[in-house]
Amino acid sequence: MRKSEAWSSRVLGKYGSLSYTSAMSSIRVPTELKEFAAVFKAAGFMCYIVGGAVRDSLLGLPVADWDIATDALPTDVMRLFKNVIPTGLQHGTLTVRWRGKSLETTTFRLDGGYSDGRRPDSVEFTSDLKADLSRRDFTINGMAVDPADGLVVDPFGGRADLKARIIRAIGDPMVRFDEDGLRPLRAIRFALRLGFAIDAATFDAIPSRIAKFRLVSPERVRDEISRMLACAKPSEGFLMLEKSGLLAEIFPELQACRGVLQGLLHSFDVLDHCIASCDAAPPELELRLAALLHDVAKPACRTEEPGGLIHFYGHDSASAAMAGGILRRLKYPNAVVDIVTHLVRHHMFDYGPQWTDSALRRFAARVGLDYMRPLVRLRLADSAGMRGAPADPRTVMPLLERLDALVAADNAFCVKDLAVNGNDLLKAGIAKGPVMGKILAELLEAVLDDPALNERGRLLDIASKVKEKYGPFLSGDE
Ligand code: ATP
Ligand code: MG
Repeated sequence: MRKSEAWSSRVLGKYGSLSYTSAMSSIRVPTELKEFAAVFKAAGFMCYIVGGAVRDSLLGLPVADWDIATDALPTDVMRLFKNVIPTGLQHGTLTVRWRGKSLETTTFRLDGGYSDGRRPDSVEFTSDLKADLSRRDFTINGMAVDPADGLVVDPFGGRADLKARIIRAIGDPMVRFDEDGLRPLRAIRFALRLGFAIDAATFDAIPSRIAKFRLVSPERVRDEISRMLACAKPSEGFLMLEKSGLLAEIFPELQACRGVLQGLLHSFDVLDHCIASCDAAPPELELRLAALLHDVAKPACRTEEPGGLIHFYGHDSASAAMAGGILRRLKYPNAVVDIVTHLVRHHMFDYGPQWTDSALRRFAARVGLDYMRPLVRLRLADSAGMRGAPADPRTVMPLLERLDALVAADNAFCVKDLAVNGNDLLKAGIAKGPVMGKILAELLEAVLDDPALNERGRLLDIASKVKEKYGPFLSGDE
């Protein structure tokens, strides 16, 4: 499976055993950060660790990014350090390369609201740390640490909320969600990731701020959804989204799956089945998206016989088309859209030991060898999502073992694997063009059936016979 680094997700996990144990007033700060802060101090500036690094350190979690806040202006920071990249200068953010780390360094600021839901209208720098912390979204994200002594600055009760495992807006949630419509989705993302509850007033403010959420750019929504999909149990996040009204905004097609019943084999309606399958899929972005959306067209494809038998004819390709539309709407990169739609389109295969080698080769040729492993994983996730219990891997894993053996035996799975190529056919008198493509496809068909035919001489023999069929079009001008 093609996997771009940026998009392959990691398991952030749901830290079931995670606990905020003592009334911690300090965190352990890595030496290089202490040295970094000392440069600011020597020049008369403040320097604090802020946001997620403080929260995660207090929770005993590994810290992914150390974000820094300072009263130094961007121009000051550029003067103090050699290796500075202006990553978000309009918001006062620079990335400083320091002792092998990339430190996102932002000047203390106040945001002037997000009237377009995309970016702050204005940014005002300040020298007041507390003012900077007050613009942050949740109490657990609104703490700072002085690297020199590791002491925590906590003006909004972030530590108490960590202890109580609560996501709570800083200030009035209505106002805070009005300023930036993405925050409701972030609240759900943090609750899911940390296994926290959302404070009632914070959660209750979400439905009335939906209009504001609609202004948020699809890219920002997409990034939060991707982070949710990297968590251990995305279904819990999707249920929160549904309860808050956000599911109908982001994925109306999934919301339409609620209450759509599927007959005897299934314990769940289509929505619960989709999110249970998503949980069961390995935490890679494309697989999680494919599992989430693999049945999204079922409501549209559902038919019920008079006897009560339920069918969803054609839902695989209809779901692939719908999934493509959803992912393009959310601005997922084409590479992600292509992988997900391809997996969804092919998810309805029914492997059994009666499959012949030739059937197996044909299936792998149609799907593409690179997709076979993810497709099998999707199938297992789909089965697990039927009843909410792990699927028996013995049902489909033999498919992969047999396929590995066929690959090891050098079997052909695509035109490129054939013992002849276009040039050979050219020499045999077949002009370039659509006819040559058709002849190559026929040669592949023959070889998928019988790999022993994959020899130059035998293929050229077949090609010359097949050629007769296309005789009048051999000029290639067809
Ligand atoms: P993660 O580990 O998931 O990256 P994080 O807390 O670092 O968690 P980011 O989205 O990277 O989350 O944001 C960094 C910090 O910036 C947050 O902790 C928060 O203080 C602040 N922040 C980010 N986005 C917003 C927002 N939309 N509104 C208010 N504050 C925000
Ligand atoms: Mg971060």
